[in-house]
Amino acid sequence: MSALHDLTVAEAARRLRARQLSALELARHLLARSQAHAGLGAFLAQDEDVTLAQARAADARLAAGDAPPLTGVPVAHKDVFVTTDFPSTAGSRILAGYRSPFESTVTARLAEAGMVCLGKLNCDEFAMGSSNENSAFGPVRNPWDTTRVPGGSSGGSAAAVAARLVPAATGSDTGGSIRQPSSFCGLTGIKPTYGRVSRYGMIAYASSFDQAGPMARSAEDCALLLSSLCGPDLDRDSTSLELPPEDFTRQLGASIEGLRIGIPREFFGDGLAPDVRAALDGALAELCKLGARLVDIRLPRTELSIPVYYILTPAEASTNLSRFDGVRYGHRAPEYADLEELYKKSRSQGFGEEVQRRIIIGTYVLSHGYYDAYYLQAQKLRRMIADDLQRAFGECDVIAGPVSPGVAWPLGAHSADPLADYLADIYTLTASMAGLPAMSVPAGFGAGGMPVGLQLIGNYLQEARLLNVAHRLQQATDWHTRKPQGY
Ligand code: GLN
Repeated sequence: MSALHDLTVAEAARRLRARQLSALELARHLLARSQAHAGLGAFLAQDEDVTLAQARAADARLAAGDAPPLTGVPVAHKDVFVTTDFPSTAGSRILAGYRSPFESTVTARLAEAGMVCLGKLNCDEFAMGSSNENSAFGPVRNPWDTTRVPGGSSGGSAAAVAARLVPAATGSDTGGSIRQPSSFCGLTGIKPTYGRVSRYGMIAYASSFDQAGPMARSAEDCALLLSSLCGPDLDRDSTSLELPPEDFTRQLGASIEGLRIGIPREFFGDGLAPDVRAALDGALAELCKLGARLVDIRLPRTELSIPVYYILTPAEASTNLSRFDGVRYGHRAPEYADLEELYKKSRSQGFGEEVQRRIIIGTYVLSHGYYDAYYLQAQKLRRMIADDLQRAFGECDVIAGPVSPGVAWPLGAHSADPLADYLADIYTLTASMAGLPAMSVPAGFGAGGMPVGLQLIGNYLQEARLLNVAHRLQQATDWHTRKPQGY
């Protein structure tokens, strides 16, 4: 029998329901474990009283027999989701100690599904970054090799799930922040179609890209969480899609015989590390054994996704972050001569370097005289990239490729060169341009024994299909069950 911390969401739910395990016992075990592994830097806030009270309530519901499916299963949330029971900082000094008066839809829905919250997870400040090193509260270490980054911006989520501190976590993905840390830490993570999951109470980075999703240790677990997360929330997020609830576990196990997997030539060029390529080839060969077939496709504007993304998202961030003015909430500079200085000092003390860089870029590209040359041009290219993807889906059912050009890099490796982070986003940004669902699935190991993720991109609302492809791969392979040494 596996140790308590090795239980997946599905296994924990089964054992809780069978009353072979209590929610309290599981919560206590994992809380102690996160204390023991505090050096990873994964958690930003925990509160034993809150967690244990939720676990006791879960046990009462399980005893009463009216418990929803995930009752008693622990989860932890990226600190961009506001919660009333825990502080919410988005990894920023400007929100240090902030308590939200309301609950985000994501955290509320998982609580309604019965999940017990173990705390809030570290992330890059306002979800801007690829290594979690932009957090104001210190970096997160990758449990596979603690001298390396866990990826970002959902780095705390990835490290916590990989280190078996919690069976699943929430993340947010604007340009790769669920997929890339999942890939770096050997997890399964899915960014659903834009609008699938309500963004209400999710601290905004770039609203036309931002999407929430689960990170876990199997496709089945992602399907379980996603089934609870999705659903309209139109009164509170007007971009949330008006679709009936969907059970994403229903299709799991279906045959993938005849599935056409599009392989974009541009995703397998010179920039891709040979060890990552070899791992991906192995995973694709497994999918072919299961009946899928590979189709050569083109995504000719892949490289342009980088400048387009790094124009559009700072533009949106510069307006989204204007609300942090030192007046309404968040950090306020202790000394100032007038209102102008209050704004300046509060914002320059509260925001970290990368966030300030993006606010400046965003303000610049939106400014009179540059708007047409940058922002408008980037919007046009965004549309063209989305059109390229639709053309590709005329020839294939899903698109496969790398998540990141290499495995997780050493802490500090990119600190003098923010551009190195931006360039490493190349393979995740394309799906983000179009708001398509995309996921990372463990595909073996590369240099230094570090995990490699296979990215699967689906057409709109094809999450169930993506999860099934991942599930079929996981039935045939055991990469997703391997764990870092010492955990
Ligand atoms: N690495 C990307 C960035 O820095 C993606 C971040 C995200 O998806 N939140 O913007």
